[in-house]
Amino acid sequence: MLLYNSLSRTREEFVPNNPPVVKMYTCGPTVYHYAHIGNLRSYICEDVLEKYLRYAGYDVKRVMNITDVGHLTSDADTGEDKMLKGAKREHKSVMDIAAFYTDAFFDDCRKLNIRKPDTVQPATGCIAEFIHLIEVLIEKGYAYFSEGNVYFDTAKLDEYYVFNKHEQENLVIGAREGVEMDKAKRNPTDFVLWFTKSKFEDQELKWDSPWGVGYPGWHIECSGISMKYLGEDLDIHCGGIDNAFPHHTNEIAQSEAYLGHKWCNFWFHVMHLNDETGKMSKSKGDFLTVSLLERKGYDPMAYRLFCLGSHYRRTLAFSWANLDNAAASYKKLIERIANLTPGEGSADDVSAAPYKAAFKEALDNDLNTSLALTALYDLLKADIADGVKLAVIGDFDRVLSLNLLEAAAKVREKKTEESADEQPDAEVAALIEERTAAKKAKNYAEADRIRNVLKEMGILLTDTPQGVKWQRE
Ligand code: AMP
Ligand code: ZN
Repeated sequence: MLLYNSLSRTREEFVPNNPPVVKMYTCGPTVYHYAHIGNLRSYICEDVLEKYLRYAGYDVKRVMNITDVGHLTSDADTGEDKMLKGAKREHKSVMDIAAFYTDAFFDDCRKLNIRKPDTVQPATGCIAEFIHLIEVLIEKGYAYFSEGNVYFDTAKLDEYYVFNKHEQENLVIGAREGVEMDKAKRNPTDFVLWFTKSKFEDQELKWDSPWGVGYPGWHIECSGISMKYLGEDLDIHCGGIDNAFPHHTNEIAQSEAYLGHKWCNFWFHVMHLNDETGKMSKSKGDFLTVSLLERKGYDPMAYRLFCLGSHYRRTLAFSWANLDNAAASYKKLIERIANLTPGEGSADDVSAAPYKAAFKEALDNDLNTSLALTALYDLLKADIADGVKLAVIGDFDRVLSLNLLEAAAKVREKKTEESADEQPDAEVAALIEERTAAKKAKNYAEADRIRNVLKEMGILLTDTPQGVKWQRE
């Protein structure tokens, strides 16, 4: 499989360290609010990657953190802790906010068929691990204590900007964010590993540490949680593109300084979903969530299809018109599948081989989901048995996760019910016709008999000047 690696900025053959195991780490949500559908685009693409690796025969071990402390409103270690901001907004405790929005996140994932990773770890559960990492970093000379905080010393590295070699000037945090440089830092790019001072006064969650009571920085969480569950090497690390700098850059700096060797081979970054204003944000009033889509009558699967229709390395523009198109395509797709007649057939049938090969080729080529969908449409058009088509659709849906067979079965069931409903109507009409004929022939006994038969069926007749009207009891 060819996969784009942000580290080498090329598509590379994906080879895990110890096949068939793939160790995959994903930056989880910061649980101070609902996830917006932009966040969920990243998780949908990562879900397809995980499922395709499984489809291709790998045994994926996937870990995700939940950021419930330490993520400040600016990635540049300034501003307020996002969790505290959420707690203040809702007059609740940080832990209540974290529990509520963690559940809400996995509800959204369930609706979008995003598989929950095998291991999900809130950052507040691994404080001892973070402290240990920081201690070792200080011991090795990579970290220093200054004016109440512990910082990572980026000048100790041969190379800090691993993802954006040509943009170093622009990326200096102070310059980029337009914030004042923290005077306690030795270098502008140094970042906080442990806070005891910054924005500390009203921080709700704090722990004892060798450097005083405080809390961990956001970046150290992902290094600590990944190493706790996946050990000293990783095959793939995922996240949205905004995480590449500074978050992932800092994760690499501290992890490799700690380990003394390379940490993660592949970096998978999903480009953003933008709304009409250009940027998705959780701070704007009624922001785009899965529940908002549902309230407006959209099936979450329409949004999943919308995401799969474009490549993960392209920015995707959200608009209601675009979503309407995706919803119409989804409905049509399900109707076409519902029109297939279930019967014998295996996904391994030779007649299906070219379509399966096209599907695999598309996903092997840097996870080209839109071409994988083309393989599905080509299969639907193909001149092969419906039973085989349905089996292959089920096989593809192990990766696409669009509920293809389930939704089609529902449509089929509904159609059967409707035709069953129509059946009695046809029977009623025939009986009424017989009764009218009997009345015409002045055979009133027969007319009454038929009226009683209908009554037993729950049908009431009314003779009107326009003819007989009927209704169910
Ligand atoms: P957060 O909850 O802010 O920590 O973000 C959760 C995930 O969503 C991270 O992987 C981010 O990189 C990603 N993300 C944030 N905004 C967007 C967006 N507009 N489109 C796609 N992914 C995003
Ligand atoms: Zn992370």
